[in-house]
Amino acid sequence: MRAAKLEKIKTRLEELQTEIRGESVETVQGMQEESTLYPDPNDRASLETEHINNLRIRDRERKLLEKVDEALERVEKKTFGYCDECGNEIDEERLLIRPVTTYCIICKESLEAVEKNE
Ligand SMILES: [Zn+2]
Repeated sequence: MRAAKLEKIKTRLEELQTEIRGESVETVQGMQEESTLYPDPNDRASLETEHINNLRIRDRERKLLEKVDEALERVEKKTFGYCDECGNEIDEERLLIRPVTTYCIICKESLEAVEKNE
């Protein structure tokens, strides 16, 4: 992969990292403020549901953040852009759209096919 392309993907990954970290902080702050604002039990119940949803979102964000961190690590180690399964270079367009991917499109599709059949 050309250095310029790799640099572009690295920037995208760092943006993602900042985005996810920024949002997680907001979610936590929001939760703390809301629970003191609504002492009514009914309001609290709907808040509980909201909290669960927030936690799910945060869980998803945390997992994505892990993938972003791993991808940046691969950029540093110069192993970025190679398929985990077959070792071939992953299509650059695919990496630009989904920089955290670790499989080429062929392996990804065959892995998904296996999952569906199980
Ligand atoms: Zn592959």
